[in-house]
Amino acid sequence: MANLVLRELLREYEQKRFIANKNFEYKKSALYKDHPELEEIDSKLNNYAISLSKLILENNKEETKKLKKEFETLKIEKEELLKKLKLSPDFFIPDYECKLCNDTGYVLDENNKSVLCNCIKQKLFNIKYNSSNIGDLNKENFSTFDFSLYSTEINKDKFKANISPKTNIENIKKIAEHFIENFDDPEEKNLLFTGNTGLGKTFLSNCIANELLKIDKTVLYQSASSMLDSIIDYKFGKDDLSENIYDNILTVDLLIIDDLGTENINSIKFAELFNIINTRLLNQNNHITKTIISTNLSMENLFKNYDERIVSRLVGYYNICRFFGDDIRFIKKMN
Ligand SMILES: [Zn+2]
Repeated sequence: MANLVLRELLREYEQKRFIANKNFEYKKSALYKDHPELEEIDSKLNNYAISLSKLILENNKEETKKLKKEFETLKIEKEELLKKLKLSPDFFIPDYECKLCNDTGYVLDENNKSVLCNCIKQKLFNIKYNSSNIGDLNKENFSTFDFSLYSTEINKDKFKANISPKTNIENIKKIAEHFIENFDDPEEKNLLFTGNTGLGKTFLSNCIANELLKIDKTVLYQSASSMLDSIIDYKFGKDDLSENIYDNILTVDLLIIDDLGTENINSIKFAELFNIINTRLLNQNNHITKTIISTNLSMENLFKNYDERIVSRLVGYYNICRFFGDDIRFIKKMN
């Protein structure tokens, strides 16, 4: 199934490239028609490499030097002409959607190996895993985050805090923004969202996902219970569909683990969960990976229910954000 989806996506990419190239040719020929002098310069520039290699083969140093000089002059001439026509050098690049892979779907990694570009990886994640989980990213972003839904009441008995739910959520938003801005800093901590349902944990996770997608990071959303179940199935050979999912869980830029604490826990799952958290903390695979975990459990219950090794990683390497207040889904319905 995975290959089928990828093949389908690559066909779409080919189509996208075809259209971008065609539009580009059309745009260029219209420009050449109005400015034939530009076409002349371009054709000379395009022939430069061939002429140069010929002269080098002939070992004609004199002519080579002359040609190189002519090339530089032509380049300057073109720049000046473009300036006069008020055209940016970007005009001569087809309008590809992804500037990293030029809509080919592939880029070269540090070992010069061709690998899937983040843009197509993310599309695969969205089709295969995120679509049923992640909310509407266009609607769930920081600009639609409604702080007025949180009470300004300070109630120590009810909320067990010295600040109001509104001040608290504003603080958490600042932590989230810091997390996004410093995503590539290995010192920047991961995020642990605790608190009851209906207080905006998932919404905020989606806001963060949305911002990171804008800067070409890959985001994978997994609910704790289904993630651990499919890993166990995969390890016991029951599920061959999850061939890549395990790899992706370990290597995706941002992994969102939702609803930790709702899974049936046992020692095998503890070991898997620890491995995921720890591998991602160590930023193996030569790139920064960060994780957001959300849970309805309080810190006390996390300590009670989870292996000490897991909890100590959370306490040491995660910014713990406690959501409190009245259920905002309930307030929304009232209005
Ligand atoms: Zn791309």
